[in-house]
Amino acid sequence: MNDNQTPIRSLKGIGEKTGKLFEKLGVSTVEDLLCYYPRAYHAYEDPVPVGELKIDSTCAVAGVLQRDACVKRFQHIQIITVSLKDETGTLQLVWYNMPFLRNTLQAGTYHVFCGKVVKKNNRLTMEQPEIYTREGYQAVRKTMQPVYGQTKGLGNKAIAKAVAQALDLRQMERDFMPSALRAKYELAELNFAIEHIHFPANKQELLFARKRLVFDEFFLFLLAVRRLKEKRENQNSSWVIKLSVEVKRLKERLPFRLTKAQEKVLNEIEWDLSGGLVMNRLVQGDVGSGKTIIAVLALLHVAYNGCQGALMAPTEVLARQHYEKMSKLLETYDIPQKLVLVTGSMTAKEKKTAYEKIKSHEADIIIGTHALIQEKVVYDKLALVITDEQHRFGVGQRELLGNKGQRPHVIVMSATPIPRTLAIILYGDLDISVIDELPSNRLPIKNCVVDSGFRKKAYDFIDKQVAMGRQAYVICPMVEASEMIEAENVLDYSKTLKEMLPHISISYLHGKMKAKEKNQIMEQFAAGEIKVLVSTTVIEVGVDVPNATVIMIENAERFGLAQLHQLRGRVGRGEHQSYCIMINCGDQDGTQKRLDILNRSNDGFYIASEDLKLRGPGDIFGLRQSGEMEFQLADIFTDANLLKTVSEEVNLLLEEDCELEKESHQELKQRLDSYLQKSYEKLNL
Ligand code: ADP
Ligand code: MG
Repeated sequence: MNDNQTPIRSLKGIGEKTGKLFEKLGVSTVEDLLCYYPRAYHAYEDPVPVGELKIDSTCAVAGVLQRDACVKRFQHIQIITVSLKDETGTLQLVWYNMPFLRNTLQAGTYHVFCGKVVKKNNRLTMEQPEIYTREGYQAVRKTMQPVYGQTKGLGNKAIAKAVAQALDLRQMERDFMPSALRAKYELAELNFAIEHIHFPANKQELLFARKRLVFDEFFLFLLAVRRLKEKRENQNSSWVIKLSVEVKRLKERLPFRLTKAQEKVLNEIEWDLSGGLVMNRLVQGDVGSGKTIIAVLALLHVAYNGCQGALMAPTEVLARQHYEKMSKLLETYDIPQKLVLVTGSMTAKEKKTAYEKIKSHEADIIIGTHALIQEKVVYDKLALVITDEQHRFGVGQRELLGNKGQRPHVIVMSATPIPRTLAIILYGDLDISVIDELPSNRLPIKNCVVDSGFRKKAYDFIDKQVAMGRQAYVICPMVEASEMIEAENVLDYSKTLKEMLPHISISYLHGKMKAKEKNQIMEQFAAGEIKVLVSTTVIEVGVDVPNATVIMIENAERFGLAQLHQLRGRVGRGEHQSYCIMINCGDQDGTQKRLDILNRSNDGFYIASEDLKLRGPGDIFGLRQSGEMEFQLADIFTDANLLKTVSEEVNLLLEEDCELEKESHQELKQRLDSYLQKSYEKLNL
């Protein structure tokens, strides 16, 4: 394309080491860097009196120091502290391993300090604040500074500096958006938008830049969806599946009856499978509504017809769980169909064996992670592909799937509570089925939101539940202790918990563990050998251990509501009464209000809509719904109106020029191609 494809190492100050760190963030070219948008912005406001500081907020304070800074050593850390006094109160300021600050922080000097306010040892404290002179602060006041997602060894300042350099050196892009649309919706010019999403002068400018880029995200996505729809609609299928009596028999022998909603959805799927056209269907159902059994029955229909079916999960833990459960089911009911598991962490040899079984059709049902649709995997008669909880299963992936063999039937299963009007737009290439009912043996989860003072009671409660034969999860936001972020971490927490409950078998799980270890821990937990699992959000999606009845979420204030709802969905999956204990360590009013929504309801749709009301459309600074679809900036809930508008415009555009052949649409066409190309590439990461 253009020079923006040059590697990031061509920038000044970025050598091999820093280059590698950028790669960790998914940034390898100048273009990637330009598209590495800030996560948040820091606005420098006027300093506030100490008495008005709110815990957990980030702000500025100013004043003259009464004493020199004091330096202490604690284990390997040098701690430097000063206190700032004004007529309204006293604030403690702390820095770690920065002894040189002693020269700056002398009695009688005036400074402005900027940072996050926390409570430490019952004292109002600012940790690692930035330090400014009066003049220095004047210069940054009222500007907005980008805050980027960072990685160990690559801090915000370094990223911002690289971005600024990239903006200086970049090749300007020609704007691909038809000018009529730009005029109609008052959209910022593309190059301007990219510059100002990184360095906006003020909120207004930020919103202007963001609107353009959100418009683009929706626009390209929907163009791709529409193209898919055109390609797929009313396509004759090579796989006309005869409904199998074995499946019907199995359904009748299950330990539970399908709910009415499950029956209805299964019917819709059976109708599609046997109907002669290629099925493209979204199955939407709240956490715990029982999507998996529907998938299993559909896969078996296909297998009994001498074809192959594949089930794809977003994580290895989940893929393995599906594999184990389905193996057991086949064994219990004496079903002769053969399963095979394909995951990223298998050895090359194991993979090879699996691939051979798939190619030779020794395997009827293939379960795995996205490794399943990579080119190396050759199927014999792939008639059905099901994806489970693949929120990021983008259009590129959807298209690629369709190209595997002779267009298999496709089912996409999701627990994301998207309102129907939005689902129709976002999944425009799919028909929609909804499981809108939970199995009748479920008791509603009992919730509570409490502060950390409640912990002792919570442990006693977990102790009792375990004594009754049940199991529990404890969720912490962090893997290990961090100097910068005050939040519970899995490693320290599980140690403490083992001391508190020495008679209970407790283990931990987090994303940095090797796949093998993770699998082993999950298996032991599923088998009931581990009673309490301390985990990060790696267990967020899909994990099903119906015997677990308590989930205790530490630092609940740090999670988005959608994520909390998913986490809570790990319990209440069986006949036992289940409990969700949310520990709120935040001090802001908003946090309590948000958590109250969850406290009140277990219904994903209700939660999503209340969350939206609380945040309001256009609120871009709140906690985002976690990684919905493949959008970087857009939030399908708060940007719902723009999404609808863009959808209408895309329809109009394609009515006028469905192949994008017009001269004035050539740049757009190119852009769409590179958008899809990128989506494919992501698959092979
Ligand atoms: P999700 O929709 O979140 O993927 P699952 O498919 O994992 O939910 O189902 C959750 C649990 O409910 C599983 O243990 C499953 O065996 C059970 N289950 C599914 N359908 C029913 C039903 N009709 N009656 C009772 N239990 C069911
Ligand atoms: Mg599931």
